[in-house]
This record gives sequence, structure tokens and C-alpha cells, in this order.
Amino acid sequence: MTNVVVVGCGIVGATIAYELSKIPDLTVTVFDQQPTPVEPDLSLCPTSTGAALGVLMGVISKKEKGNNLRMRLESLQYYERLIPELETLMGLDIPFNRSGILMLQFEEDLSVWEKLIEIRRSQGWTLEILGLDRLNSDYPYLNLDLVTAAIYSPDDRQVNPVALTQALIAGAKQRGVTFQFGTTMTGGNDREVHTTKGNFAIDWLIISAGLGSTAITQSLAQPIDIRPVLGQAIHLRLNHPLGLNQPVITGNDVHLVPLGNCDYWVGATVEFPSDGEELAPDAASFKAVMQQAIAFCPDLANAETIRTWHGSRPRPQGRPAPIIERLSGYQHILLATGHYRNGVLLAPATAEKVRMAIEGM
Ligand SMILES: Cc1cc2nc3c(=O)[nH]c(=O)nc-3n(C[C@H](O)[C@H](O)[C@H](O)COP(=O)(O)OP(=O)(O)OC[C@H]3O[C@@H](n4cnc5c(N)ncnc54)[C@H](O)[C@@H]3O)c2cc1C
Repeated sequence: MTNVVVVGCGIVGATIAYELSKIPDLTVTVFDQQPTPVEPDLSLCPTSTGAALGVLMGVISKKEKGNNLRMRLESLQYYERLIPELETLMGLDIPFNRSGILMLQFEEDLSVWEKLIEIRRSQGWTLEILGLDRLNSDYPYLNLDLVTAAIYSPDDRQVNPVALTQALIAGAKQRGVTFQFGTTMTGGNDREVHTTKGNFAIDWLIISAGLGSTAITQSLAQPIDIRPVLGQAIHLRLNHPLGLNQPVITGNDVHLVPLGNCDYWVGATVEFPSDGEELAPDAASFKAVMQQAIAFCPDLANAETIRTWHGSRPRPQGRPAPIIERLSGYQHILLATGHYRNGVLLAPATAEKVRMAIEGM
């Protein structure tokens, strides 16, 4: 048997564990420093995954080609298989919005999008430009005063990140993966991992510890600099649903995420820390997000606030996200971390890369 240890059980580690659970002859153990699996109460379990909105922007990403785009599109395809597979395996429902993403435009010139629509068509995907008449009839709840058109992406998705991570953990457990919560990795080498609960022999170590990956790689004398970028979001409840068509609506980088019934998430701010300063949520940034959301959906001004929260995204310093590679100086330590703003989207393609690295040996 080959011993694989995964450190970190947010969406990335949980997806890797689930993917690896399908390979015979692997013994997979997952460690996480949190005492319990990811949950929405960030004061109890402060992870990036618990703060995420779960918007999966693949087809509508402006990237024309390249590895990052490939990972986005592969992940979307994987999600179409994964959600029903997990729902059947575990006998539960995972909130997964299949109504696509509608991205509002505020400029007259749509030539960039016209070009992208052609590129996506050649790649086998659909994007559509919706004019104001169509928007008025299909989305009467939107204020279109400043809107010129919208791009509709029917194949992009949104998933509840906490529900999905919990289902992945349950599914992986059912397939023989061991989870040890309340266990912090403190160091190690190619042969063993050192934790607060003792040392464990490994054939492979996967570091999927998000922001915790910096301290772990420091302990291995190969520091990878990953820094927090804060995001604030809010859960709102209206006294009526907005309409029949309920894709994720996005405008000027603010998302309105329908949750079913009259509930919506709105977010998120993107706040960078100044050097050496503690990252604290900025009231003005949050207000700007709310103003933007109310500008395109005025009904939100009268919504009841159910909860507000903030979390941090793991952003690699001075290099592109994510980092999926062998840790320099180690044969059997893989980094699967630094997913910044797209960890929920990219978790499946990340897990596939990890599986291929392990199977390739
Ligand atoms: C407000 C907000 C909105 C977002 N919206 C989206 C979105 O719409 N779509 C999207 O794709 N992404 C979104 N993201 C980004 C997404 O949340 C992250 O990219 C993703 O959650 C990263 O997952 P992860 O598993 O790498 O990290 P985490 O979820 O942080 O998990 C890392 C785990 O590692 C554990 N850990 C750390 N150090 C150690 C150690 N030494 N030993 C043991 N365990 C350790 C931690 O306890 C934690 O459980 C959003 C983020 C925020 C903050």
C-alpha cells in the first residue's frame, strides 16, 4: 500500500481526498488543524472555503487559452459528474445552481466579448450576448439604467462550498479515507510528516493547507509565500423571490447569488493588506459592494440581513494562482495550494493533477 497524507481539508484537500479514494492500493489520511470539518461559522472554523460564494466562472472567464482556462473548463465538466455522483453516494442534496451566470455590461463596445464568443464556440462552449429588451423581459427585477447589455453563460455554475466540502469528506470516508481533525502539521521530510499528534510515515505528502501552506513550507525550509486577501459578504432575505430566472448575476465584480426561496448572498470585497499590517474588514469597501448590488437590483435595499462575514483568500505572492507542483528539494511532497479567488472552481482540476502525479510514479 502507498501512504498518502493530505494536509488541509478545505475544498481543495477534500476534493483531492475524494479523488484519491478512487485509486486502489492507496491509504489516504487527511489532517486538518481545525477540530471539526469546514462550516459556515467562521469564528468556529476560519477557512477560506467557509467564506466562499462558490461561483464557478469558467466559460465566462476572459482567458482565451492556457493552463488556467483549461483547469477552469475541466473543473466545470468534473462538477457535472461529481455533484450527481456524490448526491447518489451520500443520499443528500448539494445546492448546485445550474442556471448559469449573467454578467452585466456597462460599456457600449462589446467587441472583446464578440471575439470571446467565437473562441468559446470553437472550444465547444456557449456564451450569448443579451440585449436590453431580452434583459427587461427575462430579468424584470434588474435596474438597467446604466447597463448596456449582458453576457449569459449557461454552462457556468454555483455551488454551496461548505455543503460540497462536507459531502466530499463523507464520501471519501465511505471509500476508506481517514480524517484526523484537530491535528496540525509542524514539519517533516520525504519519508514522514510531523504533527501535533505524532509522526506518520508517508510515501506522498500533499500540502493543501491554503494560507497555512506558508508556515508548513517554512518548516520544510522551502518557504512559499501565500498572503491573505480579505473578502466580505452578506446573506440577505427578501420578502419575495426576485423572479423565475435565477442565474448568478454579476456586475462590476459584485455577485448576487440566489440560494433558493427569497435568500441571496452578495459579495465580495477584495481587500489587500498593507505590508505588515493585520487585515481588518474595511467598512467603506463593504458599503461600495452593497451600493453596486443595489444599483443593479434595487429590491435588495429592503432586504433583511441574515448574516455578514469575512474570510481570506490564499493568494500566492508574486506568482500566478494556483500552485500545483512538487515542492523544490523534495521528491514526494506536492503543493496544491494558493488558489486565491477560484479555489472552489479549480479544486476538481487540482485533484486530477494530484492524482496523475501520484499515478505517474
Ligand atoms: C469572500 C470570499 C468569496 C470567495 N468566493 C469564491 C467563489 O465564488 N468561487 C471560488 O472558486 N472561490 C471563491 N473564493 C476563494 C476560495 O474560498 C478559496 O480559493 C478556497 O477556499 C481555497 O481552498 P483551500 O482548501 O485551499 O483553503 P482553506 O479552505 O483555507 O483550507 C485550508 C485548510 O488547511 C488547514 N490547515 C492550515 N494549516 C494547517 C496545518 N499546519 N496543519 C493542518 N491543517 C492546516 C486549515 O485549517 C484549513 O482547513 C472566495 C473566498 C472568499 C474569502
